[in-house]
Amino acid sequence: MLIDGHGRTVNYLRISVTERCNFRCQYCMPEKPFSWVPKENLLTFEELFLFVKVAIDEGVTKIRLTGGEPLLREDLDTFIKMIHDYKPDIDLALTTNGYLLPEAAQRLKDAGLKRLNISLDSLKKDVAAKIAGKDVLDQVLKGIDKALEVGLKVKINMVPLKGINDSEILDILDYCKERNIKVRFIEYMENRHADAALKGMHGKEILAKIKERHTIRALGREGASPSFNYVMEDGTEFGLIDPHKHDFCESCNRIRLTAEGFLIPCLYFDEAMSIAASVRSGDIEGAAQVLTQVLKDKPKENRWNEAESGKEHETSNRAFYETGG
Ligand code: SAM
Ligand code: SF4
Repeated sequence: MLIDGHGRTVNYLRISVTERCNFRCQYCMPEKPFSWVPKENLLTFEELFLFVKVAIDEGVTKIRLTGGEPLLREDLDTFIKMIHDYKPDIDLALTTNGYLLPEAAQRLKDAGLKRLNISLDSLKKDVAAKIAGKDVLDQVLKGIDKALEVGLKVKINMVPLKGINDSEILDILDYCKERNIKVRFIEYMENRHADAALKGMHGKEILAKIKERHTIRALGREGASPSFNYVMEDGTEFGLIDPHKHDFCESCNRIRLTAEGFLIPCLYFDEAMSIAASVRSGDIEGAAQVLTQVLKDKPKENRWNEAESGKEHETSNRAFYETGG
């Protein structure tokens, strides 16, 4: 079992398989970065898999592949199959912007993927284009339909932004309800790579919008899930991912691995340790030692909540497209 320096059990590994993306979301990567990580610095799937085996053997039971846009990485289904074959009962999920799903969904399902989180910030063509930097809506909606058709379990992620898509919270709820899928509203996390003019909606403001039309009841956090769940009067459930809330980090069970091999203990902070040299030389013991150190160093909490306690608002240096959201 993996326990961090604050006594929390860590059983969830998120792997960013690429920092590259086919969208330019305002809250994540509004401009193409000055430079990408050179291809030779990226770990191969065989190298990533070596670490995955260490993590699973030590107690990881849930793996999420993310990015950048993970479906841009060639042969992703091969990597999914490697993980699935090693531990068929692992909770294996993927977060995607959905654009490439119409052609990829069946292959992902056949490789052993169980669950998909798909980002959907707007149901209006022009608003979706404004957020993503190109016309994406039709293709993303097709991707969601295809994922459901092939039998993948789907959840939707929406980041509500003031003056941009905040009027669509109820529409996205209705869209998900009609398809019997769950939506999770994510508070915008300030970071220095995002468009500086953006204003996110606080969890309380998101809930207030929903209460304009619905009666809701808090269900609480689902285990160590980052999502705090609610149920509406008709039984429809939705989640709120609220990293600004003081108790968000108390049950954090997550660590993150980048495509370059940096193991990151907390989404907010820059601190990371590399497993690249270990996995490239097949040094399993060395990779396990880095994992132990990263867990020891895992911060108690992020600093997005400091605005609420009256301190100056904190902005993270981390790029979500590198770390994987
Ligand atoms: N490209 C995929 C996608 O967009 O779903 C996966 C990577 S993306 C970084 C993972 C999740 O992080 C997405 O749901 C996205 O909306 C969310 N995200 C990115 N930047 C964010 C920010 N600044 N605040 C809150 N959520 C963010
Ligand atoms: Fe790409 Fe996802 Fe970031 Fe949007 S949120 S720019 S789709 S990585």
